Amino acid sequence: MTKPSALNQRPEFENYFDTHPEPRLDFAHVRRALQDGYDRPFLLIDPQIIRNKYRRFLAAMPRVRTHYAVKANPDPRVVRVLAAEGAGFEVASPAELDLLISLGIDISEVHYSNPVRARQHIEYAASKGVVWFAFDSVEELRKVHAVAPHAKVYLRIDTPNIGSDWPLSGKFGTKMREVDEIIDVAAELGADLCGVTFHVGSQCRNAENWRVAIDSSKRIFGKMRAKGLEPTLLNIGGGFPVRLAKPIPSVEVIGDVVNEAIADLEDEISVMAEPGRYLVSDAAYFVCRVIGTTRRGDERWVYLDTGMFGGLLESTQGLQYQIETDRGGQLVPWHVAGPTCDSVDVLLKDEMLPEDLQDDDFIYFPNAGAYTTAYASNFNGFPLPDIRFV
Ligand SMILES: *Cc1c(COP(=O)(O)O)cnc(C)c1O
Repeated sequence: MTKPSALNQRPEFENYFDTHPEPRLDFAHVRRALQDGYDRPFLLIDPQIIRNKYRRFLAAMPRVRTHYAVKANPDPRVVRVLAAEGAGFEVASPAELDLLISLGIDISEVHYSNPVRARQHIEYAASKGVVWFAFDSVEELRKVHAVAPHAKVYLRIDTPNIGSDWPLSGKFGTKMREVDEIIDVAAELGADLCGVTFHVGSQCRNAENWRVAIDSSKRIFGKMRAKGLEPTLLNIGGGFPVRLAKPIPSVEVIGDVVNEAIADLEDEISVMAEPGRYLVSDAAYFVCRVIGTTRRGDERWVYLDTGMFGGLLESTQGLQYQIETDRGGQLVPWHVAGPTCDSVDVLLKDEMLPEDLQDDDFIYFPNAGAYTTAYASNFNGFPLPDIRFV
């Protein structure tokens, strides 16, 4: 039997989008940073916003431990801020692990949640003290168990990504029909299969995804117990959204759904989440500059000093940032492109921007602290964006 949704029961959540004010970096900091000069695109981060977002996440879901997904922004200063707040961490590679080691983070609590990895990477992680490993197939379970027989392994399940602006299903995740076989193999091997994890998709604007996935996880806990395994971990992954161009359910609204769904979980099950974007996006502005404008037939084109290879990859894939400029002209459709010679380096088509944009104008992307600098390469010889702190 499915329970009626908390959102339907509560009239105040009839419209559950944009119920809470969402922060962004004070623009005065950007002005001040530009007074120090500009030689390449940069991300400007206010660590206090990261602290506030961490605390707000905790307040919204008091039973949920927070492990920051390092890939969202692996700058050591960001990691240090979150470590000082008491956050745990989630990694996907030896390099991310090395970063945590270099900062003196307790590795025994790190979650290695990438569900498929090289045998050598498992060996390396285990040798450095990692005990928590996600997996999503019999093959990976056998691999982890062979290399690290005492590992605590947790099963990544496939779960709906409906309403997520950056879906993460399809590539990873055990289907429900495969779960029985995996549990049998774990029991046979004597592997410490201790929990379940999922990812609802990044920038997930549909709170119901968490309820559906938690309900599936509970069914799997039942199956595990039936085979003599003792589940102790529910890892609800990342996906918590930030306010970009589209309305979002605030973390408090998602928290209500999650808290209700986990309320009847046994005490021995500890619950954790792996927010990435949520913790760091709002803390930063991404600043870049116009290098050229032109008309091609009816089309206006504006070229920036950075593009999909320099930190703005997500905007080529449908993630809509707000864009600010210093111009006050009438808004007209522009095609926005990066500086490289690759024709895929086009960020936006028909984006409404002031008609008087010119060379050397600054372009500002608020709430861009996640998955920007982390994605940047210096393809075609363009420099990596700088990362500055207020
Ligand atoms: C990327 C990722 C996260 C973080 O996702 P966000 O959408 O940034 O919150 C968490 N867990 C895993 C396993 C991931 O791959």
